Amino acid sequence: MSQLEKMQLRELPEITNRQIEQLQQLQINSIWDLLTYFPFRYEDMRLSDLSQAVEDEKVAIQGMIVGQPSLRWLGKKKSRLVARCQVDGLTVQLVWFNQHFLKDKLTDGKEIAVAGRWDRERLQITVSRTLLSKAEQEKFLGQFEPIYSLSQSIKMKTIRKLVYQAFVHFGREIEEILPAEICVQYHFLSRAKAMYLLHFPRSREELYQARRRMIYEELFLYECKIFWLKETNQQQLKGIQHQIPMKQIDHLTESLPFPLTKAQKRVMEEIISDLRANTPMNRLLQGDVGSGKTVIAAIALYAVWLSGYQGALMVPTEILAEQHAKSLRQMLETHGLKVVSLVGGMRTKERRTVLEQIEIGLADVVVGTHALIQESVAFKKLGLVITDEQHRFGVKQRTALREKGFLPDVLCMTATPIPRTLAITYFGEMEVSIIDEMPAGRQPIETHWVKKDHWSKVLTFIKKECKTGRQAYVICPLIEESEKIDLQNAQDVYEQLVTQLAPLRVGLLHGRMHAVEKEEVMEAFAKNELQVLVSTTVVEVGVNVPNATAMVIYDADRFGLSQLHQLRGRVGRGSHASTCILIADPKTETGVGRMKIMTETNDGFVISEEDLSLRGPGDFLGVKQSGLPEFKIADLTMDQQILEYARADAAKWVANVENADASDQSLKRLLASLKTKAQHLD
Ligand code: ADP
Ligand code: MG
Repeated sequence: MSQLEKMQLRELPEITNRQIEQLQQLQINSIWDLLTYFPFRYEDMRLSDLSQAVEDEKVAIQGMIVGQPSLRWLGKKKSRLVARCQVDGLTVQLVWFNQHFLKDKLTDGKEIAVAGRWDRERLQITVSRTLLSKAEQEKFLGQFEPIYSLSQSIKMKTIRKLVYQAFVHFGREIEEILPAEICVQYHFLSRAKAMYLLHFPRSREELYQARRRMIYEELFLYECKIFWLKETNQQQLKGIQHQIPMKQIDHLTESLPFPLTKAQKRVMEEIISDLRANTPMNRLLQGDVGSGKTVIAAIALYAVWLSGYQGALMVPTEILAEQHAKSLRQMLETHGLKVVSLVGGMRTKERRTVLEQIEIGLADVVVGTHALIQESVAFKKLGLVITDEQHRFGVKQRTALREKGFLPDVLCMTATPIPRTLAITYFGEMEVSIIDEMPAGRQPIETHWVKKDHWSKVLTFIKKECKTGRQAYVICPLIEESEKIDLQNAQDVYEQLVTQLAPLRVGLLHGRMHAVEKEEVMEAFAKNELQVLVSTTVVEVGVNVPNATAMVIYDADRFGLSQLHQLRGRVGRGSHASTCILIADPKTETGVGRMKIMTETNDGFVISEEDLSLRGPGDFLGVKQSGLPEFKIADLTMDQQILEYARADAAKWVANVENADASDQSLKRLLASLKTKAQHLD
């Protein structure tokens, strides 16, 4: 920790107690926090040429008030103040909202400067910043003013002043932290200068240079930490060295109803070599929906069983748990493994039996929801932990499951392709395997977007599919009627379809149903006793009914792109051609854009990149506790390129840290301090 991080706010000479309190409300507790409380945007106070300014552009002008301003009250506290102002021979209207107190100051002939939005047609500026005095104008015109996010109590002016003073008094103490070599290579500004200019740039170029350096630094340090953790894990953690005879594995793969794809084989080998090694496996398995990840899980579970260990598979929903238990039984029980499932809605007696089997080692493979991580669950000898659709789980849940064993091997599977930027940050400490090939014979899914008033055509289509023996899903966003938003809900749609589609049999599935009921409905659909399944998004992940070929999604614009892709992935799982129909009347351009992307591509990676840039990393992963690093300046959706450089440099640098020369002391110290922190990133 640097000196500045320990230094208290009250060491700033001019600061008052009240200001210290105000800063603390913003989580600013030390001088360092203040120095790094970077603005989120800047007000450009450089004078504009109005004759060149375009509609709605941000402009700053200096001019002279003519005549008297007029004030109109629009409500109790709301007002609109208008004054005329002469600028470069042009008379423009200045408009202020809720600043009635300015009225008396805008006297005829007064010189003022303002910044605001330019309305070219009306020759009008809606003012966002006013500089009344000559002194202010001299100080701020021609600059970029930092805009900080604030709490109610502190003023922008105050925080600007305090940040500025912090630099005056302590700026000199900011130490360089990047290796000298790197600073030279990229022509970086010094750390102190870049930090200062990030607050008070005088030109776009300065801002650009400051940002470039600070983004790099942030990402470089983060990547160093990841590489360093990876390295220490490898050196220090002794995991289980599984004994796995390849011949036995071949027995299993030969007993499957299909040959593995090349990609599946490659991934299988990567996993087995991890399992045999003496460091714990920590691997992320990525594969688009339908690429065949379940069988890989089965092989891994079988492999640790061969070496005398139990394995656990954690999934996000009960439906998925039941389905996986069933398919693992099919694949593994003939080879002598006992597969049990553990979900929330089980009867007490049944649950007790299962818990006992797990504890005494009678159960070899345990499939379950987060019921698996409850305290009452104890394994005899847990050697492998797999999570399916792992982004659905928080970091804590994954860690809790891992801790049921002694440094078990860990495999995380995900069907939401993770854009590379996230893969190397959020999952940076994991090895990555990718199944980039679909099983042979799959037909691509055709996707159509239709408006709501084409419903009758959709009905005809569903009937046609079912007539040829296929089945259909109809997905709706909500369960119960909501008065606020007029969404089709599953219950309504179900009732409607029962009549409209008769004599076809229609089923209903939603999250509020009891586990047993859900299971019954799923089973009936899997057996084709139900031809059409109306459902909420509980079928989103993992559900596998290869005979279903039609996916109809109501109010499709309400779903995220990745979610739509997941839903679509429920069809196209067999040898028959499949269709996905998106029903939506999107009101916004992004809504329309998303429908178009869906109709244009089936590639999960393309879709997830789009999704990331539309929603940002936090929402993309969909979990707040995801452990996603929070970057102060870097933005993973924009700064991919810098990330790639920083990562490559960090890898090199960490590998050589022991021989770092004297000038790199500060980073060496920083890495040393990491050694005292947690062993795992999560
Ligand atoms: P996901 O990767 O989405 O979890 P699944 O594991 O559910 O996909 O597999 C989808 C379907 O593909 C299943 O019906 C599975 O039996 C089948 N499958 C998996 N691997 C192959 C393969 N190599 N050849 C043919 N079908 C396969
Ligand atoms: Mg799956």
